[in-house]
Amino acid sequence: MQKRVDCECGWSQQTDEESVLVTAVQRHAKEVHNMEGVTREQVLAQARPV
Ligand SMILES: [Zn+2]
Repeated sequence: MQKRVDCECGWSQQTDEESVLVTAVQRHAKEVHNMEGVTREQVLAQARPV
């Protein structure tokens, strides 16, 4: 199942691979928003099925 995360800045990521989604969101949060320590649970809470 494809899942998608939309960031408030307009960035988004969509994939059917949960680990890819988590990694991408963590990297985006760190690089763009200077947010460290985003957890897998936080990412998945933001994700919605497409
Ligand atoms: Zn963003």
